[in-house]
Order: sequence, then structure tokens, then C-alpha cells
Amino acid sequence: MDTSNITLDNITPPWLPAPIAAAMLRLDKLDTEISGNKWFKLKYNLEAARSDGKQHILTFGGAFSNHIAATAAACCQAGLRCTGIIRGERPAVLGHTLQTALDKGMELEFVSRETYRHHRTSFENRPDTHIIPEGGHNAAGARGCEEILSLFPTDHFTHILCATGTGTTLAGLINSATAAQTIIGIPVLKGAGYLEAAVKALLHPGQTCHWQLLHEFHGGGYAKVKPELIDFINTFFAETGIPTDIIYTGKLVHAFRQLIHQRYFPDNSKVLLIHTGGLQGNLSLPPGVLSL
Ligand SMILES: *Cc1c(COP(=O)(O)O)cnc(C)c1O
Repeated sequence: MDTSNITLDNITPPWLPAPIAAAMLRLDKLDTEISGNKWFKLKYNLEAARSDGKQHILTFGGAFSNHIAATAAACCQAGLRCTGIIRGERPAVLGHTLQTALDKGMELEFVSRETYRHHRTSFENRPDTHIIPEGGHNAAGARGCEEILSLFPTDHFTHILCATGTGTTLAGLINSATAAQTIIGIPVLKGAGYLEAAVKALLHPGQTCHWQLLHEFHGGGYAKVKPELIDFINTFFAETGIPTDIIYTGKLVHAFRQLIHQRYFPDNSKVLLIHTGGLQGNLSLPPGVLSL
């Protein structure tokens, strides 16, 4: 994949105080279908499948999973067969994300929450199949994300913020950050206490940068969209021209806004926000709600 569309944009929304500088790494510009961090997480997973000679990718997700949509598109491009194991009953009408995956040729199998929980073992024995865990949460996924901070010179940033689901992207950022940087994950799920361990499981031994998860910015929980968030996304777009999504990056920037308000960042901080993409998720909303 050609990464030359990605840009590093300085942002100056009116609520940013002068002593603090902020920029956004626009992974959303990578591709409309395999957007943002999902491509980095898939890169070495697909390479592993290829080097093992596997022609079939199997992975897992829920109805709003950008990982499912991205995997379907990436496999379509790579000429690999793919199956998505989807949590819950098949809905009467597929939502936008699942329909997109289906259109890209992914086979969808809907399984009960119970089966899903024990998923890995029940699907492991399919022949010619390479399994990618839910959200690409494995060492290969984190390894791809270690390349994100070297797209541009980023060593001068003091803080790096990223929306967090499985913690794979965050782990890749931590593994590749300098010892002077603080990496902050903003979980979009409520009660994501498992995340600390999930991130640690993917860290290189001996990494020394500071990192933390700030758990109070999920805005009601995963894929919960309050009117306040919609207003914020629309206003941020009017202020900066940068579109964000309702599940991850809108909540990330909203968290940043609140942290600024709380005077969380010392003067002269240089903050890098990772725009992890996910804009396709906005198509789950009725038209006209967002003015992007
Ligand atoms: C999947 C996704 C994330 C979460 O990434 P993890 O590596 O699972 O933490 C963040 N932002 C967007 C836009 C995503 O689609």
C-alpha cells in the first residue's frame, strides 16, 4: 500500500491555548476502504498467511467492526478468500459495515455470543486457514503499528494520543516511541479494565516510554453516540476541515478537548493525535446527521 497520501497536519482549533501545539497524523487518508490503523495491523498478518501458503483468512468482529470491513477489502485486493465470524444473530437488514464486507466477498458467519467467546478453538481446525484474532490483536498487528510514528519525524512530540479498542495500535506506538514521550490511549469501550494487560502483552521487553489509558472518555460506551458528540464532530470539522468518526476518532478529539479544558498538558507540550481512520463507520448514521 502506498502511504504517500498520509499527511501530518498542524491543527489550531479556537479552544487550543497558545502554549500548546497540536498536530494530527492523518492515517484516514491512506485508503477509503482499508483506512487508518487497520492496514498497519493487517500488514504482517497477511504477510504471515502468504508465507505459510494459506489462501483463506478467518477473523472475528461485531456488527460495527472496522476491522471486519478492512479485512474484507484487504483480502479482496490480495486475492485471498476470507470469512468473518460475527458476534450475534444475523440482523434482518445488514448494517453498512457488514454489507460492505459482504460486497467485498467476505463470507459472514453469525454465531451466538457463547460460541463467539470460545471462538478461536472452534475455528482453528479449518484447513488452509490463517486466523487473525479480533481487531488484529497480536504481535504481528502491533508490529505493523510500530511503523506509524516513522511515517514523519515525530520525535519532537511530547504526548501522543490514540483512540483505543483492543490496544494493538497503542502497543505499536509505545514500542516505537522515544523514552521522552508519553503515549495516551483513549478507550472507547466502557469498563475496559482488561486493556492494561492486553497492551502489556504486546510490548517489547525493556521499552521505557511512559504510557497510560484514560478511561473516562468513552462517552457512554462502544458505539454509543450522544448528541453532544455529533455536535463536537461537526464543530471540529468546521474549525479544522478534518472529518472524524463517531466510534473512535471523534471521541479521541473530544477527549483531547476535555483534557485541554482540565489543563492536563503542561505549557509547551506538543501533542500528536493519531487519526486512525474509521470514517466508513459514519455511514451507519442516517444521512444529514453529520455535516462533514
Ligand atoms: C479499530 C480502530 C481503533 C482501535 O484500534 P486498536 O488497535 O484495536 O486499539 C481506533 N480507531 C479506529 C478508527 C479504528 O477503526
